[in-house]
Amino acid sequence: MTTSATLEEKPSVCPLDCPDTCSLSVLTDGNNILEVRGSKANPYTAGAICKKVSSYYPDFIHGERRLTTPLLRTGPRGSLKYSPISWEEALDRVHDGLTQAIENHGPESVLPFNYAGPHGQLAGGSMDFRFFHKLGATQLDRGPLCGAVRGAAYTSLFGNAPGMEPEQAEKSDLLVIASNNVTVSNLHLARSIKAAKKNGAKLIVIDPKRIKIAEQADLYIQIKPGTDIVFFQALAAELEKRNTIDKEFVERWVFGYEAYMNAAREYSLQDAANICQVPLEQIEDFLNHYTKAENVAMSVGNGAERGRNGGSSIRAAMALQVLSGNMGRPGAGIIAKQGLAFPSTSDKLRRPDLAPESTRMLNIVDVAKHILDDSLAPPIKAVFIYNHNPVCTHPDQNRMRRALSREDIFIVGCDIEMNDSMAYADVILPASSHFEFPDIYAAYGQAHLQRAEPVIPTVGSSLPNTEIFRRLAEKFGMDDPTFKADDYQLMDDAYDPQAPQMKGIRPSSISLEHSLPMTAENDQELIMCKTVFPDTTTGKIELFSADLEERFGYGLPRYQVVPQSYPLTLISPSSSKRTNATFGGNRESMGSEVLEINPADANQRKIKEGDKVRIWNDQGEVYLIASITDKVKPAIIYSPKGTWLGSSGTNQTVNALINADLRADIMGGACYNDTFVDIETI
Ligand code: SF4
Repeated sequence: MTTSATLEEKPSVCPLDCPDTCSLSVLTDGNNILEVRGSKANPYTAGAICKKVSSYYPDFIHGERRLTTPLLRTGPRGSLKYSPISWEEALDRVHDGLTQAIENHGPESVLPFNYAGPHGQLAGGSMDFRFFHKLGATQLDRGPLCGAVRGAAYTSLFGNAPGMEPEQAEKSDLLVIASNNVTVSNLHLARSIKAAKKNGAKLIVIDPKRIKIAEQADLYIQIKPGTDIVFFQALAAELEKRNTIDKEFVERWVFGYEAYMNAAREYSLQDAANICQVPLEQIEDFLNHYTKAENVAMSVGNGAERGRNGGSSIRAAMALQVLSGNMGRPGAGIIAKQGLAFPSTSDKLRRPDLAPESTRMLNIVDVAKHILDDSLAPPIKAVFIYNHNPVCTHPDQNRMRRALSREDIFIVGCDIEMNDSMAYADVILPASSHFEFPDIYAAYGQAHLQRAEPVIPTVGSSLPNTEIFRRLAEKFGMDDPTFKADDYQLMDDAYDPQAPQMKGIRPSSISLEHSLPMTAENDQELIMCKTVFPDTTTGKIELFSADLEERFGYGLPRYQVVPQSYPLTLISPSSSKRTNATFGGNRESMGSEVLEINPADANQRKIKEGDKVRIWNDQGEVYLIASITDKVKPAIIYSPKGTWLGSSGTNQTVNALINADLRADIMGGACYNDTFVDIETI
């Protein structure tokens, strides 16, 4: 029995795939997580956290789905029939399964299948990468699932130089928030917006769905998904016509101006109104706000990248900030890629040099297709799923399930709790949660480096990822010190202790009570073209990218019309109940998910509020509950992502409807928003 004398508040950090990376304060009785709250160790997140983390984490750690012992499959794949086994036996079986694949088909027949479950540097990718690199396993290009398109769009303009910190938005007099549902996916930016508005700033929200933050907007623009490129290029051309391009800034800092403007001049404001399905008066209103403001902050979220025009749309949005000279001052800039402020030494941490030269690299979005492809040379014969729930997060869910159902491949699963993907594994390794081991945390939505120690002992016989891969490395005879490095050595390999941002502090010694802010030289805040500078080949902000031209034929952003196979477009952004598929097994997520539909589309199909509806296309069908609302425009429907199979009566989720073979214009990105469906009552 717990007594108050044994209770203790301990510092930690949220590891979820979210830009905010909040500092946490955890109430524990020594063995159990009792409460999770925000802490002030990170001054940016400053005590506020999202409801899902405070509500669901204790159950995630100690609930009935928690994996506490290694398991061996005893029934058909997906049947959830497993028997407990010892770690020794589990690691032997993993060794034997991977070895058999390697002996018969070579090391590239082994595929590590991981994504961004935990964002700590150690759990997210350290000893595991060393192990798979040394093994010579196939490498995985993970960014195309999410983030790579937006990241490459940004770096094509600015190189590896960090964007504006979200805190600076408080100094702006206009905020433009595009495709970023901040109240769900970027909570603390919502707080900065509120503070800016209190100071008199205006807010413009551009999003296909009338999201919560739009209620506070001075102007809300309900844009057709995937057309942002046209909207922003037409605006660029109009700025030129109105003589409001910042010529001095362009002269000093911009490469590719004429090429970019030639492309932008193709679109008039009327074209933008027609293609983006936005009233012309709203576009004029945008221009009035935009040209009047002195310091505009812009945030373009990941929503914009999830379609064939993804890279082009994000580049065009960011280009508007450049052309208008919204750089070089606090409060003027693009809120993006703060992760570039950290002195990461990921090659030292992950050791890609251990991999044989020319080891193949596969796009993560293609994994199911490759597993099913017998002509792939070598074929994939062993899959190691960890830090990832591919069944619930990848496009074309049914193909993924067919791939993971193959009885002739060996599947290892490693996770904190049982989920829809683990159910396909031959051997399951129970992973410890981030509350049970030390780790170090950068962020992709703010610039504070944080460290955490365990706050409870490991649950059951679970082990941290680092220890699992240390033990596996030993099984495979990898006896180099590289594979014996402890967690603190790994932290010191993750960041350059000599970098000025570290202020003489070793990564493994960062205070648990205070985050370490990543600042520019002389401790200045990060301001593009003032304290940080474009890190491109030309040393300027590149509106024409030679690199993207060479790799993808997209030196300039370009609009392409997306052919539509069914009458309705389904968008599936984040839910406030889940982070991707994490927490998808909670009771709150296991009922039928909502499907928002415009009254015009609902009336046409005789759909009433609360009706159970069937959404289908050639790939699958899902049951959802209709919510009739003008938050979505006609022909657009919305249902949040990350649900688990059991949430829909068809044992499929919206991911079953998403085409896995479509690619964004750059980086081979997945096209979640180019999903076309029809709907009926059942
Ligand atoms: S999911 Fe995001 S907002 Fe919620 S606690 Fe974690 S970092 Fe903070």
